[in-house]
Amino acid sequence: MPADPLHRAGKPQRSASSQPPSGSGTSAIEVRRSTRRRRTVSAYREGDRTIVLIPARMSKAEEKRWVTVMLDRLAAQESRRKLGDSDLGERAGRLSAQFFGGRARPASVRWVTNQNTRWGSCTPAEGSIRLSHRLQAMPEYVVDYVLCHELAHLLVPGHGPDFWKLLESYPRTERARGYLEGVAAAERLPGAADAAEASEEE
Ligand SMILES: [Zn+2]
Repeated sequence: MPADPLHRAGKPQRSASSQPPSGSGTSAIEVRRSTRRRRTVSAYREGDRTIVLIPARMSKAEEKRWVTVMLDRLAAQESRRKLGDSDLGERAGRLSAQFFGGRARPASVRWVTNQNTRWGSCTPAEGSIRLSHRLQAMPEYVVDYVLCHELAHLLVPGHGPDFWKLLESYPRTERARGYLEGVAAAERLPGAADAAEASEEE
């Protein structure tokens, strides 16, 4: 569950309480009650603490239940996200072997956080591939598609017919492109957090 920026900017009433978390490390949990919050509960990590935002009227029993729910959700999100740079390199190697006969050999594959309008990019001269951290919250087949896309650029520059022909070997190309287009379209809707143009890449 992403932090609620609106709420973070407000003045939540603190009712700090520490209790051992259920199965997600040893960080402290801080429950903040807010009168502005009516129904929604959210949680995020702040350093080694976990902040859980709940409506002010929630009972202690509900609080306890929701803290457990939110800790589980955060843990699930984080385990999905744990694909580190070295895992990413390994994964790229496997995808290259599987779909491009091992011909695409990236020198480096890493996550970057400064890439908000592109899902991925590559510098063929250096053999470097960068993936936007935003993909970390997306399904694996989407991450794999973007990896394949960038791997394919190591072999074919640009987006001509040769390029797409190469990508046809990855079976979920169409589906992944649809997913990413959907995300980009949602961001352009009125009221989207920031209407950054999310181009497919490059
Ligand atoms: Zn491309």
